[in-house]
Amino acid sequence: MVNFHVLTLFPEMVMQGLHTSILGRAVERQHISIEAVNIRDYTTDKHGKVDDYTYGGGAGMLMQAQPVYDAWLSVAERTASKARVIYVTPQGQTFHQEMAKEFAKEEDLIFLCGHYEGIDERVLEEIVTDYVSIGDYVLTGGELPAMVMIDAVARLVPGVLHNDESAATESFHNDLLEYPQYSRPEVWRDKRVPEILLSGNHAKVDEWRLAQSIERTRQRRPDLYEKWETRHFQQEFTQ
Ligand code: SAM
Repeated sequence: MVNFHVLTLFPEMVMQGLHTSILGRAVERQHISIEAVNIRDYTTDKHGKVDDYTYGGGAGMLMQAQPVYDAWLSVAERTASKARVIYVTPQGQTFHQEMAKEFAKEEDLIFLCGHYEGIDERVLEEIVTDYVSIGDYVLTGGELPAMVMIDAVARLVPGVLHNDESAATESFHNDLLEYPQYSRPEVWRDKRVPEILLSGNHAKVDEWRLAQSIERTRQRRPDLYEKWETRHFQQEFTQ
């Protein structure tokens, strides 16, 4: 069970986005829980303000430290001590499957979503344990990145996917992309399903799939292929 806590100015966006389909079912079955904490509820400003101008000038507004800190405190008081706080930011390390696996082992994960120009550095220094990005581009807010990461982590939590096998054969497992897949009918627009998949010979099917995975990775993701190749030959060498 992983409990996801999202500190955000747009809780409805997060809750609507994450309570459908597979994750919605996982919440109902208590494999995961997802709560969105509205940072605005914690401001001490009488007009409900959560942002202000940046010192030193420059365009845009910045989320202030106090409401972010108090929103975090409201969660931290209820969770395991030292719960990781992930600030989703274009300035972080790029998210990847290994990171998702690591996060899936935690009991509680707190995601902090920025908006406007971001968040006052002092509160980040105080509470953040991980700075994580979803890629080298800038979005208007952290809600979509947090949702992307929560989706990727949640599906690795035992029980969330129906078939425990599917996560183990998917892309990025073993540094390879997944092989091509086919469903009914056998022929569609004159394209036949590869004969080997209809043979019933599981060993041959596995062999074909591995070869397809390797070739696909080599063509589409040479960077990943290189990683796989190095590891593969190292393993052969040490056997
Ligand atoms: N001024 C910031 C900078 O240049 O690094 C960008 C702020 S961005 C407009 C507002 C918020 O969106 C950020 O605080 C962050 O939470 C989120 N965000 C934007 N792009 C992101 C990305 N690629 N990955 C993760 N979070 C992102």
